[in-house]
Amino acid sequence: MRGVILYAPGDVRVEDRVDPRIVEPTDAIIKITATCICGSDLWPYRGAEPVDHAPMGHEYVGVVTEIGAEVKTLVVGDFVVGSFWSSDNTCEICQSGYQSYCVHRTLMGTIGTQAEYARIPLADGTLVATPGQPDADLIPSLLAASDVLGTGWFAAVAAQAGPGKTVAVVGDGAVGLLGILAAKELGAERIIAMSRHADRQALARHFGATDIVEERGDAGVARIKELTGGLGAHSVIEAVGTQESMQQAMRSTRPGGHVGFVGVSHAVSIDGLELFGAGIHLHGGAAPVRQYLPEFIRLITERQIDPGAVFDLTLPLEDAAEGYRAMDERRATKVMLTP
Ligand SMILES: [Zn+2]
Repeated sequence: MRGVILYAPGDVRVEDRVDPRIVEPTDAIIKITATCICGSDLWPYRGAEPVDHAPMGHEYVGVVTEIGAEVKTLVVGDFVVGSFWSSDNTCEICQSGYQSYCVHRTLMGTIGTQAEYARIPLADGTLVATPGQPDADLIPSLLAASDVLGTGWFAAVAAQAGPGKTVAVVGDGAVGLLGILAAKELGAERIIAMSRHADRQALARHFGATDIVEERGDAGVARIKELTGGLGAHSVIEAVGTQESMQQAMRSTRPGGHVGFVGVSHAVSIDGLELFGAGIHLHGGAAPVRQYLPEFIRLITERQIDPGAVFDLTLPLEDAAEGYRAMDERRATKVMLTP
């Protein structure tokens, strides 16, 4: 099969990879219908994380082509969506709703789903089948459910977005934008998107943002305070993962408020005294996407939400290198790849 390999920072190649096969009786093999490039793929692409001939990709939707002897809930031909962590969905951590921390988890990025086929470990726990084959125009939204929607949703839940709440969103990438969608679905009263790019501001409003703040850093914090009677937001979504974005999120939150942080942290350090003084809740990490998949599939197939609107460029898998360049140069928000 064909698949993406990141040889070194900036060096994306699509080449022949060994066809995946069933290794454990709980595995399934899927033929990938669509996959995509994640903001987190840009960290190794930019050299901010070490990389050496790594298979890439952890987001996927596809059709089951083979199942192991112990797989019970899926049949060959099912159209499935899965999370970027595989999970058994039965251990104590999974049962508490934190499948991304399953005691048997595997990071799908180590398997590399920017490819024609993928082996999915713990298929019964990891994959959720859609009711029948989805219409072609729903594929981007179902693909978004695999990571960016789930991650934005978890951020909104962790930030306790809900009725009567003012939510501020730091980060206008795909996750931040879908955090806005989630906050709206969860009933937030006011949603402030922090973005200085016209196209992303438009998408933020499409997903439910009521206000846009273009300022960053201390000026951005001051503007959030100004919009919230000097108090700060109840709920703040942090969807970047840098020192500046985390600080901006914490300082935009009112005492007693909640920060949901889902940007993968890179060189972020939190000052203990500042945290003590802020009186805020911090909750985040890898989103337990699997927990939300059945609800996402329902909302998407009933056409109540359209998270697939974050994809603004679709390329054949063979052109993955151009997809990485487009996201790196911010010419694209989110790139879908079709094998
Ligand atoms: Zn588990």
